[in-house]
Amino acid sequence: MNRCRFAPSPTGLLHVGGARTALFNVLFARSTRGRMVLRIEDTDQQRSSRDSEEAICTDMKWLGLDWDEGPAVGGPGAPYRQSERLAQYQSHLQALREAGHVYEAWETPEELDAMRTEAQAAGGSLRYRRRDYSEQELLRFRSEERTPVLRLQVPREPVTIIDEILGEVVVPADDLDDFVVCKQDGFPTYHLAVVVDDHEMQVTHVLRAQEHLMNTARHLLLYRALGWDPPAHGHMPLIFSMSGGKMSKRDKAKAARAALRESGRDPGELASALGIDSETMKRFRKKKRDDVVIAEGIAAALGVELPEIDVVDFRRAGYLPEALVNFLALLGWSPGDDREVMAWDEMVEAFTLGRVGRTAARFDRDKLRWMNGVYIRQLDEDRLYAHLRAWFDEVEHPVAAASEEVIRGLIPLFKERSATLKELADKALFFFEAPTAWGPPKAVKKHLLKGGGLDRLDRVTQVLKDLDDWTEAGLESCLRALAEGEFEGNLGRVAQPLRMAVAGGPASPPIFVTLSMLGSEETLSRLQACLSHHQDAAAQ
Ligand code: GLU
Repeated sequence: MNRCRFAPSPTGLLHVGGARTALFNVLFARSTRGRMVLRIEDTDQQRSSRDSEEAICTDMKWLGLDWDEGPAVGGPGAPYRQSERLAQYQSHLQALREAGHVYEAWETPEELDAMRTEAQAAGGSLRYRRRDYSEQELLRFRSEERTPVLRLQVPREPVTIIDEILGEVVVPADDLDDFVVCKQDGFPTYHLAVVVDDHEMQVTHVLRAQEHLMNTARHLLLYRALGWDPPAHGHMPLIFSMSGGKMSKRDKAKAARAALRESGRDPGELASALGIDSETMKRFRKKKRDDVVIAEGIAAALGVELPEIDVVDFRRAGYLPEALVNFLALLGWSPGDDREVMAWDEMVEAFTLGRVGRTAARFDRDKLRWMNGVYIRQLDEDRLYAHLRAWFDEVEHPVAAASEEVIRGLIPLFKERSATLKELADKALFFFEAPTAWGPPKAVKKHLLKGGGLDRLDRVTQVLKDLDDWTEAGLESCLRALAEGEFEGNLGRVAQPLRMAVAGGPASPPIFVTLSMLGSEETLSRLQACLSHHQDAAAQ
């Protein structure tokens, strides 16, 4: 039976690339009726946290990516947190020591840095190889209270990876060095821990991103040293943003810097408004740091949106998990025909490693938006309402306070035209907050200021004041009669100024239902506000 694993390091949020890795593993496990293991790689004590582990699990569950074995559920390979498996690593390290596969290396981080600099000056990069220390050297190291690391003695020969996705990949001997397997603090390195865990957890397929290809060469050497058969490996294509380059939190900093430049705002002033010292802001602007908090602060202050990078960003931006999963599945995989919108079972059915691509996949946000819109339109009212409720629980949105009945009433009005839940809620916002600004300027000119728009609005206001039957049907017959009688039958000449007045812009759901939902009092007050604002502006 196939056994796959997803092995995140709990040092932050679940990145969309990590989610894609998890997804392909789950798809492969499910499509072959195998099992899925979740392993938490928390040997980096400083950077790992339980909060991050929980956040990653929450995001995976939100996406619908489930696992059969893992920290909370247990399983035959338990424990599933590396920090709880130190004894296992020690015993295998001991075996490696006894077999003479690892040796002590005594260089300090400073000495290694110097060696690195020297290698770079010579046009290469440091490939650590075993050196023999003299008796005196060893005495000195001990008197300086140095602690050695353990390195694997790597044979000087190329390593061949038989990759389920890339085919045969040969890594030349010169690209590999004697890498560390046990750190100074006695903790195993990632390399040792991964190999021990994958072996002990009986993982049959290690599927991860291409950036791990060199690691796989190292891991194969460790399997050999430990006398174990390696699992199959498959490396998935990298994910690039549309502008090229790996998608990372830097994209947020980049977008925030661009927005700041365009806004023309004084960076010093903005820094103090955000409680950031000016030196930090300067370093941020000069690309010397890419803090997400600063980027988000700037974005909030300027009212701009940053590109989503982590799964939680997409959730907050109003994407549906099913749409994101479907989109991620197509980042480097194809069902072999032109299907794009695919249900989960269909993807499981069609998934094979042979159809995973080799070249970098582009993260096309427009396509994701399109796909999300398709999913929104496919949902029935109950499910869409449930999604909206869940989304309102996650973000602050003024529409969240509305009653279930009202929200359900809004859904059919906006469902067809919204790419995200946020867009749907934003579009509905005008029902709850009367516009205080009207725009864009082009629309104000076209529908209100030019061609007697305000006069028409004035006239509509008069007529609506006398309307008794304030229902969708009553409004329709009243406004159609007005258009017929006074505006050459052109309903748009009545509806557009009305939309500007009640919605603040030229787009709204059909005008009759909009006005009937707003009610007569609210509609008339908005008409009045819009008229007096623009009449005053025109008079000045
Ligand atoms: N903890 C590693 C990471 O988050 C996992 C790599 C692997 O899948 O082996 O990158």
